[in-house]
Amino acid sequence: MPTLTIDTSALKHNIDLVQKLAKNAAVIAVLKNNGYGLGLLPFASVLQDRGICYFAVTDLSDAVALRNSGITGRILLLTPLYEFKDILTAMQNDIELCITSTACARAAEDAATYLNRVAVPAQLCIDSGFGRYGFLPNESEKIRDTVNTMSHIHICGIFSHLHASACKNANCVRRQYTAFNTLCETLAAEGLSLGMRHISSSSSLLRFPDMNLDAVRIGSAFLGRLAVSDTAGFREVCHLEARITDIHTLPSGHNVGYGNSYRLKHPAITAVTDAGYCHGLGMKHSHFPGNHGCPILYILRKFRQLLTTRAPFARYQNRKLPVLGQICMNSTILDATGCHLQVGETVSFPVNPVYVDSRVKRNYLSSKTEPTC
Ligand SMILES: *Cc1c(COP(=O)(O)O)cnc(C)c1O
Repeated sequence: MPTLTIDTSALKHNIDLVQKLAKNAAVIAVLKNNGYGLGLLPFASVLQDRGICYFAVTDLSDAVALRNSGITGRILLLTPLYEFKDILTAMQNDIELCITSTACARAAEDAATYLNRVAVPAQLCIDSGFGRYGFLPNESEKIRDTVNTMSHIHICGIFSHLHASACKNANCVRRQYTAFNTLCETLAAEGLSLGMRHISSSSSLLRFPDMNLDAVRIGSAFLGRLAVSDTAGFREVCHLEARITDIHTLPSGHNVGYGNSYRLKHPAITAVTDAGYCHGLGMKHSHFPGNHGCPILYILRKFRQLLTTRAPFARYQNRKLPVLGQICMNSTILDATGCHLQVGETVSFPVNPVYVDSRVKRNYLSSKTEPTC
């Protein structure tokens, strides 16, 4: 089984950089999906050591795990809860609730009444254009009525999520931002106390610093994996270390891998590794699923993606070893010609940790040159 290696000093560098870019806004660390694959608890612990004291997750179980592991700061749930026992669990663990609808608010109010709690913290979620969760920007009356019927819940924040912060055209982002701000102003003018306002995440932190508001919710920037060009100097944080399971000598013209898709153009010494696509190799998220968009645009984007995708490789010492043929489920074949690689040695692959099977061990390399702060 390969190992996911995390360069703790690069991670700390990125955390510091996010804090610098956030300026006066609070930093909320988003830790969905096992902390973007870095491992929920070890990642949270590095963040907390580095001065981050506000976290957000999408699963109640993750929120509870953070509490139980000694995270003392605020924890915000980014998704609604409707089940009575889930809401009780959240309240008993001091988790900030996410109110996305009147029904959701009522469920929270009922649970708080049952527990005889007052001032249970919750944040209003606004759908300013994403189409996923929250009240719509033109529902100020509904929001006001909903908030006014809650006597045990305290609204400590209001937030929305941008859907196109990585897209070239900034119009959608500006529209969402304006819709969100206008709603907040309307509610505030009606005397509603809203607490902290936030809409920005990693891409917008770099591109639209004027949208920082009271807080920024950051995930991918901590990993140095941005969907926009990196103008700030984030560092790559992790790679997958795989073991060489066999060395093989093949003649020119021999097939490599599934699908009859690769034939050697020269005699080669190949190295087989124990990492494959179930460990995240070759996995890439597309922002353009294209099933509802313009088909021509979709084809053009796919074509551009094909041209700009780098050929996969592994690093061995200072060399790049090309991947031959298709990546298999849990093995990958490398061209190791001319490089004295041995069975049992390790090579490292660049990888998006989100796709790395959670059974793969996360290994945080301690940094020897600990910067002082
Ligand atoms: C994932 C997520 C974020 C963080 O996004 P990044 O681009 O990874 O920084 C922020 N807010 C919400 C609601 C999210 O789902």
